Amino acid sequence: MATVSLEQEINPWEAQEARFDFAARKLNLEENLWKLLRTPQREIIVHFPVTMDDGQVDMFTGFRVQHSIARGPGKGGIRYSPDVTLNEVRALASWMTWKCAVVNIPFGGAKGGVICEPKKMSQGELERMTRRYTSEIIDFIGPEKDVPAPDMNTDSQTMAWIMDTYSMHMGHTVTSVVTGKPVNIGGSRGRVEATGHGIQVICDESMRYLKMNIDGCRVVIQGFGNVGSNAARLMMERGYKIIGVSELEGGLSNPNGIDIHQLLEYKSRNNTILGFRGAEPTPSEELMVSDCEILIPAATENMITSRNADQIRARVIVEGANGPTTAVADEILAKKRIFVMPDILANAGGVTASYFEWVQDRQGYFWKEDLVNERMEDILRESFDDVIRYAEAHNVNNRIAAYMLAIDRVAYTIRQRGIYA
Ligand code: NAD
Repeated sequence: MATVSLEQEINPWEAQEARFDFAARKLNLEENLWKLLRTPQREIIVHFPVTMDDGQVDMFTGFRVQHSIARGPGKGGIRYSPDVTLNEVRALASWMTWKCAVVNIPFGGAKGGVICEPKKMSQGELERMTRRYTSEIIDFIGPEKDVPAPDMNTDSQTMAWIMDTYSMHMGHTVTSVVTGKPVNIGGSRGRVEATGHGIQVICDESMRYLKMNIDGCRVVIQGFGNVGSNAARLMMERGYKIIGVSELEGGLSNPNGIDIHQLLEYKSRNNTILGFRGAEPTPSEELMVSDCEILIPAATENMITSRNADQIRARVIVEGANGPTTAVADEILAKKRIFVMPDILANAGGVTASYFEWVQDRQGYFWKEDLVNERMEDILRESFDDVIRYAEAHNVNNRIAAYMLAIDRVAYTIRQRGIYA
């Protein structure tokens, strides 16, 4: 790969393109499909007003990108953050296309975002912003068109507002327009923990494949939000030893294992992990390169780059976050023979449970949590085997194998449907 600046290295759209091009070349993808899949199908930018608590009207900018709807409705989260850019949303939308195809569920890829400072906004402001954003994109979303879900700084309450706004415009309740809703209004049991649960399943499968022991296996987790904390709890309960946990404000370590139940209780009382007595304060950057068997980046993008990849000492990396590793870092990790389970497989438990939520809403019949979990585990185990088969057959790393599998599935569908050009 040519030398790139750090700025280029951490540009998420370029990171996506680099992997896509490499995998497409390996697959000998025909040029027409290459051109088609390299470009998002639809990019919506909306500028809209919101009444703030002081009575003033502020203008906000929001995006919704639909990368591909070849295999089914668009699927992907909505994030609220001051740093959201069209480029980022575009990359996240295409990752969703590949993720849904890796786990073979009937969705395409989409993503949305609003530029805002959610931590500085009141509930009322967030609700008005969410409803107005929904009304701006209302013609482009829907159970058969594009089904949003939560992402960074959005949650089940945000989804409830979107569902309600959409339903008010349609004149009847449409629960299947979004996933990640509260269980009472069409949410699925097991959805909140699903991504962390999926991480645990992929760790289990990796241990089985590499003939490593789960018992006492040392794990470091970056990010103790929804994904990281659920993965930590479920993995500790299974016998893994969680020796490090980090958050934006700092980290914790304990070579004998951190009691995650106690840490969760501490965090819910104090709203931080700092000051927890059952572990030593340790900087987050130090934890990323500490000696362990499994490293789980579950915070945000670009955490493993050319700056720290060569210092990483984990034997296995299981990506909870979307895009935590840059393409340049991939090459360094490959040289170090680190076994990487890529985001588009490792964190796909969430979208798989979202698929089940959409199915249950359309059926009007809700499943027990055990059934949701069992079906999700089956899909992830099968997808793990599919990715490993591609990696072995084509002699590529797991990330490229996952891209190849996904591109193959999307391309097959488009060939069958034909290109309407
Ligand atoms: P979250 O907001 O609940 O948690 C993220 C946590 O990461 C926060 O607690 C934050 O303090 C921490 N963090 C941020 N920067 C950090 C840093 N530099 N060092 C250490 N900690 C840091 O979000 P989440 O839902 O857990 O999502 C995390 C990642 O997983 C995102 O990339 C998201 O897109 C991805 N993801 C989430 C889901 C899901 O179902 N929630 C599904 C698939 C992928």
